[in-house]
Amino acid sequence: MLMHIDRYRSYSELAQHEVEGIDFRRAVFRRAFSAVAVIAPHGGKIESRTSEIARAIAGEDFNLYLFEGIKKRGNYAALHVTSRRFDEPSCLELLSTCSFVIAIHGCVGRDERVLLGGLDHSLKDKVTAEIREIGIDVQNDGHHFLATDLSNICNRGQSCKGVQLELTKALRRSANAQRVAEAVRAALLPLQDTHKLSSVSNYFRNGGRM
Ligand SMILES: [Zn+2]
Repeated sequence: MLMHIDRYRSYSELAQHEVEGIDFRRAVFRRAFSAVAVIAPHGGKIESRTSEIARAIAGEDFNLYLFEGIKKRGNYAALHVTSRRFDEPSCLELLSTCSFVIAIHGCVGRDERVLLGGLDHSLKDKVTAEIREIGIDVQNDGHHFLATDLSNICNRGQSCKGVQLELTKALRRSANAQRVAEAVRAALLPLQDTHKLSSVSNYFRNGGRM
């Protein structure tokens, strides 16, 4: 995977050669009052099960974005646009309205592990603590997926910092993937409440106008 060179350098390049609805699909699910975006930019058959894990984290509470490979084969080779170049417009539009971003990816690995990256160190620490709590191996430094580049899609929300989770193949295939999703939700739900309260108080401050 480290030797892989992406076929396309941007979404627009990809969209010139691949057909929406046949090769790939995109979906945005917005949740009222949510300041959190859960995204799977390599979903569907690009990085297997990352869409399902992102859906499980988002539930009915958080905004969700999926970019999914739906080809019969060769999804990763054709449709993987690396996170630093991932610029699909509906994803960027969603992120422009969100303070917190969680990007879900899949990496190789025979042991069940989560590798955490991104520039939102405070949220990274909370996610780390919740995943450790359920006894899953989590590493938030000293690995290949630190996602510290500002152009990484996880860092392109309103606050210019986000969190990236890389789940090993073994973990994505295991029932523990659901437990990790629940642990990530536990880290995100308090943010949601804080934001909801401030949205509601702004609503009243504005005389009922949002
Ligand atoms: Zn990925």
